[in-house]
Amino acid sequence: LVKVDGLHKSYGPLIPVLKGLDIEMKPGERLVVIGPSGGGKSTLLRVMMGLEKIDSGSITFGGKPYISSDGYDRKTLIDNSVRRSIGMVFQHYTLFPHLNVVQNLILAPCKVRGDKKADAIERAQSLLKRFGLDAKANAYPAQLSGGQKQRVAIARALMLDPKLMLFDEVTSALDPELVGEVEQVILQLAKQDMPMMIVTHDMWFAKNIASRVIFCAGGLVVEDGPPEQVLGSPKEERTKDFIDRVF
Ligand code: ATP
Ligand code: MG
Repeated sequence: LVKVDGLHKSYGPLIPVLKGLDIEMKPGERLVVIGPSGGGKSTLLRVMMGLEKIDSGSITFGGKPYISSDGYDRKTLIDNSVRRSIGMVFQHYTLFPHLNVVQNLILAPCKVRGDKKADAIERAQSLLKRFGLDAKANAYPAQLSGGQKQRVAIARALMLDPKLMLFDEVTSALDPELVGEVEQVILQLAKQDMPMMIVTHDMWFAKNIASRVIFCAGGLVVEDGPPEQVLGSPKEERTKDFIDRVF
């Protein structure tokens, strides 16, 4: 589904972050990315979303060129039709505060894709129902709990029928008692075979959601394998150290 090839990315000339990342993700896989703080996990997901320029390397999606770097004038080329098929949810809620829940959900489908408002509202309501949020359809973000906001953010990303979902530490800003309801929604998506890339520090969640785990450090993939192996009995010393410290 996704092939990341020799991805290099630095912030200015002094801060190299990704140093030749290679990742191949098959359809239906759920990739959990773990690694030390500052290792470039968020940068990778932001690049995947077309939010960051890259220095070199390329990404294909469904076998189609998606992002590439033109080595000559260092331009980053992005296929916007592919970008629109990728949804992302961030650590901090990114709902529009002045719009209610349904308005948040229908904005992109109506504006970007030209969906009919009535159709978009109907789909929004069925998604909200699925996520146990039907009573909150007319609430504003400020009236929601953190867990509810994140579930709305996930529903909003799903409104554009993504072929891949990216989750960047979506529960790490939440009170502990709200983590479960958000993870359950993502596990529910996993059951429906939604391909996803997930950055998380939650061991229980990583074990339960991953079909594969990648340990990234120093801008490179250090270890890559099934969750039982990478989380349970890592081969690399650096992975072992990290897992002992963090989980
Ligand atoms: P964490 O686990 O703390 O979320 P991360 O693996 O997601 O870390 P990134 O956020 O991708 O790491 O950051 C990687 C490095 O790039 C860090 O050293 C960070 O300071 C730097 N960095 C990130 N964004 C920018 C930016 N916009 N400008 C300059 N440097 C940045
Ligand atoms: Mg991060």
